Amino acid sequence: MNILVINCGSSSLKYQLIDSESEKVLAKGLCERIGIDNSAITHQPEGGEKKTEQINMPDHTVAVKLVIDKLTDKEVGVIGSLDEIGAVGHRIVHGGEKFASSVVITGEVLKQVEECNDLAPLHNPANLVGIHSCREVMPNVPMVGVFDTAFHQTMPKKAYMYGLPYEYYEKYKVRRYGFHGTSHDFVSKRAAEILGKDRKELKIIVCHLGNGASVSAVKNGESVDTSMGLTPLEGLIMGTRSGDMDPAIISFLADKEKLTAEEVINICNKKSGVLGLSGGISSDFRDLGQAAAQGDGMAKDALEAYAYRVGKYIGAYAAAMNGVDVIAFTAGIGENNIEVRGMIGEYIGFLGANINQEKNKVRGEEAILSDEGAKVTVMLIPTNEELAIARETARLVG
Ligand code: ADP
Repeated sequence: MNILVINCGSSSLKYQLIDSESEKVLAKGLCERIGIDNSAITHQPEGGEKKTEQINMPDHTVAVKLVIDKLTDKEVGVIGSLDEIGAVGHRIVHGGEKFASSVVITGEVLKQVEECNDLAPLHNPANLVGIHSCREVMPNVPMVGVFDTAFHQTMPKKAYMYGLPYEYYEKYKVRRYGFHGTSHDFVSKRAAEILGKDRKELKIIVCHLGNGASVSAVKNGESVDTSMGLTPLEGLIMGTRSGDMDPAIISFLADKEKLTAEEVINICNKKSGVLGLSGGISSDFRDLGQAAAQGDGMAKDALEAYAYRVGKYIGAYAAAMNGVDVIAFTAGIGENNIEVRGMIGEYIGFLGANINQEKNKVRGEEAILSDEGAKVTVMLIPTNEELAIARETARLVG
């Protein structure tokens, strides 16, 4: 069955058409600047050339129609007609406590997702727009929602509760949810597969290090803790997000800089992390690596603070699970940044884990980075959230 995987943002729409049997990507692409001027679609059929075209896309429904046009186009298309799309899998960021697994999308499900909008005001409404547009264009195609939060719904209460008055949990569901669940699930499953073991018998720490970044503790196949919280701002120092900090800083800075709390949070989300720490050099680790190599002290300090925070979380999660068998690195930085992985490796020796310098010289492919016979296996496992969504969709619809 061909599955169309959709990841819809407020002004963008990423898509992949995946054959669920061969798990091959038949075509993929991206619509950008939807509803803004200069909107463009980039489409690439399997083995073909990637082409970008500027086409007016006033809303997401127009974008979805355009995607279908591209997929069925005589020249760059890969299917004959809409009938060859068996199902659509949608990435949905926040499922709150309502969704502990993927679901077939119905009117009732959409209502429940909408009720989670408060928890992810930047993401969920955009995801919903994508679903509505797809339903409009493909009314007879079954659709599935796959949630970033679902995998972490197994966290025990001691891990998901904040030390706040209980009434806020009761009234507003203020608690830790965690994100990147599709990736943490995919990578921990793959780690067990590669090692020829049952995930239910392993304690795995997954470090998803991309622009957004989180660490999770996966014990006996279930997420028992993860570094992101109510929103994706908590936890690691990220590209532009602060991660953990004293909440009193918000009112302190609001007072000193004459800002509202919302404005300070915006700074914590968009101008902080390694971008802020480096004095504004970049949020991109390639730029920071280059600057550090040329002797820039601030870039070096930012990278050190980043690696230190990841190291601390690994230590914390080894304690949370009372041990660890596997540490897996994934996403842009985890898969590609040899230097940063090496720096994180400095903090894991006490666990009986190591990153072998020679084995660490690898990017973007599955690999074991630790010495043979090491107590803890350190692995590189490329994530594939689109494939995970396609698998979930096929499982529920097939
Ligand atoms: P997103 O969260 O947006 O999906 P990614 O997983 O693509 O983010 O990660 C983006 C980060 O990965 C960037 O900081 C980028 O510098 C880093 N990255 C990607 N490729 C490389 C590479 N070859 N070497 C070093 N860093 C890389």
